[in-house]
Amino acid sequence: MLQRSARMWTLCVQTALIATFVQRSASLQDNLVGRLQKSYNPSELSESRFLEYSNLSDKLHLREAINNILIPRVVGTGNHSIVRQYIVQSLRDLGWDVEVDSFHDVAPIKGKLHFHNIIATLNPKAERYLVLACHYDSKYMPGVEFLGATDSAVPCAMLLNLAQVLQDQLQPLKESKLSLMLLFFDGEEAFEEWGPDDSIYGARHLAKRWQREGKLDRIDLLVLLDLLGAPDPSFYSFFQNTESWYMRLQSVETRLAKMELLERYASSGVAQYDPRRYFQSQAMRSSMIEDDHIPFLRRNVPILHIIPVPFPSVWHKPDDNASVIDYATTDNLALIIRLFALEYLLGGGEDK
Ligand SMILES: [Zn+2]
Repeated sequence: MLQRSARMWTLCVQTALIATFVQRSASLQDNLVGRLQKSYNPSELSESRFLEYSNLSDKLHLREAINNILIPRVVGTGNHSIVRQYIVQSLRDLGWDVEVDSFHDVAPIKGKLHFHNIIATLNPKAERYLVLACHYDSKYMPGVEFLGATDSAVPCAMLLNLAQVLQDQLQPLKESKLSLMLLFFDGEEAFEEWGPDDSIYGARHLAKRWQREGKLDRIDLLVLLDLLGAPDPSFYSFFQNTESWYMRLQSVETRLAKMELLERYASSGVAQYDPRRYFQSQAMRSSMIEDDHIPFLRRNVPILHIIPVPFPSVWHKPDDNASVIDYATTDNLALIIRLFALEYLLGGGEDK
C-alpha cells in the first residue's frame, strides 16, 4: 500500500455515512431530472425473452478473458500494451468499431506518459448510446506484483464477455439510432497519491474532448463497473436522476433469483443490509466515491456506478489477485448486466 489516498479517505467517510440512506419514494419516476429522456422507457423483457437471454452464457470465455487481462498492466509498460491490444483485437474480431484515443499527460514519479482509452461502438454513427465502462490499467505499486483482479480485470473481462455472448442479439445495434458503446478507460489509478491531477487521466481527457466535440449529449447513460469479482458485493443507487435505471438492475436480479437462475446465490451473505441481494433497496446519497465517472458527472452525463460498498477487503492490496475472484458472483453479475443491457437496448421496440 502506498500513501493514504483521497479515495481511501472518501471510503471512510462513505462508510460512516451508511446511516444516511434515504428511503426510496414511490414517485421516483417523477423525480427524473437532467437529460435522461422521460419518454425512453423500454418495456421489461417478456418472460420468454428473459428466459431465452438468461440461457446465453460463455463461462469459459469469461475465465479466459480474465486470465488474459490479469497481469500487471501499469501505463507505459509492455504488459499494458499487450492488454490493450488484446481488448482492441477481441472487439474488432467480433465486428466492433474500435477507436484508440491516445494522448499524453504528465504523472508524478513517471513523468510524461502515453495514455490510450479504448472506445468500441457497434454503430459509430448512432445518435445515442448506452455506455458500459471500466478501466484497464493497473495500479503502480513499486516492489509488488499488483494484478488488480477486481480493480479492474474482472469488470473489463465482463464487458468483453458480454460482447462475445450477445454477438447475435446485438447485431441490430449496428444500424440502430440507439446503440451500445464499451469504454475502457486508461490511467484511472494514481501513481503517487490520489488527487485531481493524479488519477482518472483517461476519463478526464475523454470527458473534456467529448465536451469540446459536442458528443456528451449522445450518452444516454454511462454505467461504470469497478471493483467487481469478490463475493457478496452490495451496490446502491447513488444518483437520483438514474434511480429508475438502478431499479431495472434490481428488477433483473429479482427475476433471476425467482427463477433460480443465479448461482450459489445468497449463500454466504455478508452484505450489511439485505444479504439476499446485490443491488440494495436503500439509496445512498452523499457518496463521495471518486472514480472515472466524475468528469462526466460534472458535465451532467447520467451515471450508474456499479461499485460495491464497502469496497472489497483486498482493495489496493497485493491480495487483489486470482484467489479473490468468486466465479459464482462474477457469473451472476455478468448475467444481470447482460440482461439489463438487452432490456435497455432492445426493449424500446419502435422507439429505438
Ligand atoms: Zn484501484
